Amino acid sequence: MLTIGVVGAGTMGSGIAQVAIAAGETVKLYDPFPQATERGREMIKKNLEFLVGKHKLTKDESTVMLARLDIVQTTRDLAACDVVIEAIIEDENLKKELFKDLETIISPDAILATNTSSISITSLSNGLARPERLVGMHFFNPAPRMKLIEVIKGLRTSEQYVDFIIELAKRWGKVPVTAKSTPGFIVNRVARPFYGEALRILMEDGTDHASLDTVMRECGGFPLGPCQLMDLIGLDVNLSVTQSVFEATAFDPRYAPSLLQQELVRAGKIGRKSGEGFYTYPTNIVNHKNNETATAVEPNVLDLEYVDDALIKPLIDRLITSGNSLTGVATSKSIPTIALTDGRTATQRSDDESIRNLVLLDLCLNFELTKRIALTHAEQCTPQAVDQIVCALQSAGCHVTIIRDIAGMIVTRTVAMLANEAADLVHQRVSTPQEIDTAMTLGTGYPKGPLLWADQIGLKNISKILKNLCDHYGPSRYRLSPLIQRKSISNQLFHGSP
Ligand code: NAD
Repeated sequence: MLTIGVVGAGTMGSGIAQVAIAAGETVKLYDPFPQATERGREMIKKNLEFLVGKHKLTKDESTVMLARLDIVQTTRDLAACDVVIEAIIEDENLKKELFKDLETIISPDAILATNTSSISITSLSNGLARPERLVGMHFFNPAPRMKLIEVIKGLRTSEQYVDFIIELAKRWGKVPVTAKSTPGFIVNRVARPFYGEALRILMEDGTDHASLDTVMRECGGFPLGPCQLMDLIGLDVNLSVTQSVFEATAFDPRYAPSLLQQELVRAGKIGRKSGEGFYTYPTNIVNHKNNETATAVEPNVLDLEYVDDALIKPLIDRLITSGNSLTGVATSKSIPTIALTDGRTATQRSDDESIRNLVLLDLCLNFELTKRIALTHAEQCTPQAVDQIVCALQSAGCHVTIIRDIAGMIVTRTVAMLANEAADLVHQRVSTPQEIDTAMTLGTGYPKGPLLWADQIGLKNISKILKNLCDHYGPSRYRLSPLIQRKSISNQLFHGSP
């Protein structure tokens, strides 16, 4: 068993200390503020008591674990540690100073690890006598519960120390993924469009925040909608992560912070902790305008057409089973026609393809089972045609959310952008498709890894969606990852072969 030093006894430091003592290590916990270490120890004690109450741990086991936690008064007391994990506030200069101090104290074989969320590991190691022994060990909050650890290699980090931290994470019951030091690492980088697209859609008044969250949850299968999640994380914290990625990527416009988010933060509407963000707390639960038609209707025999697309075939089957008559030809006549969005607005596509009564559907995680469909329609489309399609979808058991005619709708453009971001990390050899998908499902609870999802949607479809978004909005934000382009042309997948 090892002796682990943890510096910083806040939310993350105390969580990390708990993980280590639970795995049988001895922990020396240091924080310059004695109240912080006391609070940290109390938090660990409470968590262990909770586990005892849930019969996940015996009282004796919890006592033995706590006995392995040693609160220390100075960094000198960390001299005997095999690994020291830093979890102090997110301040580059303070962290650098701390590592320089620790270097003079710990043994030549000991390893330094940092839990930073956003600072370059290469930069933190700059100025150390032995930069090769600094490794990023990025836990997720709450550390005892979250399985994922991102193990980050700086430019000078040596493989042997990375391997050691990977093994340590596994021994602690965690799932490590590795990545090269890059702004936002994996999870905070790939997740940027999850929030960014939502904010852009709201800025365009594509829908209201409650409807957007509903569509992301019930159509996209995400556990929380982006606005709910931003409220939970804190809009200020979310904005600062975006800002740090924006700055660290030399102000790549793809990561530019949203004006809407900045205004909310300026107004002090930073989410749950301030009582108000997108939603109001604690009185808010429902009562949000939701552009939804929820009346159940009797099966209705309607004449519809659809644009043939393998992805919506299960929904077409549901519509047929519930008594609607559908043909797979899109004609220029005025028959109501449905199609899956391809990144163009309905109005644009209606004009391009001369289909007057065109209604576009947003992507669903599972068209066979979904209980909700989001749709939009061309400006040229008649209200009667929209009504007919809504009735048909309701007869197939779907609630319908109608949004305004924005390019790529909600789930489609978000998933395409998540995949694009993930693909860029693979392209730049930051990490592998397997590790990125593992990180995104474990670190954020997404229903599928974005690259597996892209494989299933079809990389040609993803390319088409992004190219159409580029045509619509301009190239900077929606530029296609060269790797998706290459793979879609050569018919390759991110996972396995076609
Ligand atoms: P926190 O504010 O809860 O705790 C920080 C602790 O560091 C405090 O107890 C403070 O007293 C102590 N501290 C401040 N200056 C110090 C110094 N010079 N030396 C030693 N200790 C010092 O913060 P946190 O949320 O636990 O975050 C800690 C680190 O973990 C940050 O780098 C953060 O980016 C990262 N992180 C946070 C989360 C999260 O969700 N909170 C998730 C992953 C990573």
